[in-house]
Amino acid sequence: MFSFQIKKKNGKARTGVLSTPHGEVKTPGFVPVATRGALKGMGFREAGELGADVFMVNTFHFYCRDEHLVVKEAGGLHRFLGTDYPLMTDSGGFQVFSLGAGWQRSTGKLPHKESNKRGQEKKGMVEIKEDEVVFKSPFNGDLVKITPESSVKAQENLGADIIFAFDECTSPLASYDYQKDSLQKTHRWAEKSLQALKNEKQRMMGIVQGGRFEDLRKESARFIASLPFFGFGIGGSFGESYGDSKENMYSILDILSEELPSLKPRHLLGIGEPVDLIEASLRGVDLFDCVIPTRFARHGTALTSSGRVNVRSSVFQKDNSPLDANCSCTTCLQYQRSYLHHLSKKKEIYGIILLTHHNLHFILHLMEEIRESIEEGDFSKLQRMKKEL
Ligand SMILES: [Zn+2]
Repeated sequence: MFSFQIKKKNGKARTGVLSTPHGEVKTPGFVPVATRGALKGMGFREAGELGADVFMVNTFHFYCRDEHLVVKEAGGLHRFLGTDYPLMTDSGGFQVFSLGAGWQRSTGKLPHKESNKRGQEKKGMVEIKEDEVVFKSPFNGDLVKITPESSVKAQENLGADIIFAFDECTSPLASYDYQKDSLQKTHRWAEKSLQALKNEKQRMMGIVQGGRFEDLRKESARFIASLPFFGFGIGGSFGESYGDSKENMYSILDILSEELPSLKPRHLLGIGEPVDLIEASLRGVDLFDCVIPTRFARHGTALTSSGRVNVRSSVFQKDNSPLDANCSCTTCLQYQRSYLHHLSKKKEIYGIILLTHHNLHFILHLMEEIRESIEEGDFSKLQRMKKEL
């Protein structure tokens, strides 16, 4: 029922097929994120028609108020969402990071330009203990507890095909000592998560952590690879400051391509800028998930073959050209920039729908180009595209 087969290898890059009881996923592949069970601005079928073949739902949003039980009662995520596509759920570790270390110093997985310096921390809402994480629910302020076991139980109730072990997603600004301690905890939690998995219709990915430190990443890859996971999530943060994070991520992916067993799938969690999709695929990453295409659309930003543009910009008001002349999606074939500008400025929902359609088409088409390049062994097109994106 579950398998991962590599079709073609080229350098570190590979194409393959991940099979699940709900169908096959082409790799390297992009996993659109339906945070609370919706893609925001698009249905699953429409995304499937654009080429999406798997979706990610965030456990955290169903965890805080025990809504995973509602989903279980409704027949599981596939029934609840009314879709037969392969589904994944994450463990909640990243959202805990967002409320805690990420919130305290205003950072994401990669440091922002405006991330707070040490000493300027805001008060976090998370306490990370040996066996559990306690945090204030962002939904109603209640104290909520997550353990590896409770995360897996919630993911079992949701019933996605692929689930993830519970981990601590560390801040890119955390010290070496903190990362090292945290890594041991994540490794213990990985073992507990695996032991808690009872449903034979699900497979679990273990998560490699270690932040920006190459020795910790190696140690983590070796430990997680020694456990019987179906595949691996590459989690956590990269770089120490804005500007060095991409290079750090790429060099760590180079190391992990050597350290992780080559026959199992590798999923780079939460990273999805077009350039990163190319760079990471060339370094042997098989799967990506990211909210970029849908979130950007809600803010008027389009990903195009010549880089990001924001349709709210006044230069689009009288621009009657397509959003991206190189794109074959319905938005680009049918509408002009002036209309997209108008819809976005007037906050019309249809503007978000059209941009979501384009952005997702753009990313899924890019993944197709990446797979083709790997199969053909010719990376020249990708190298040219990277300069424009
Ligand atoms: Zn388009």
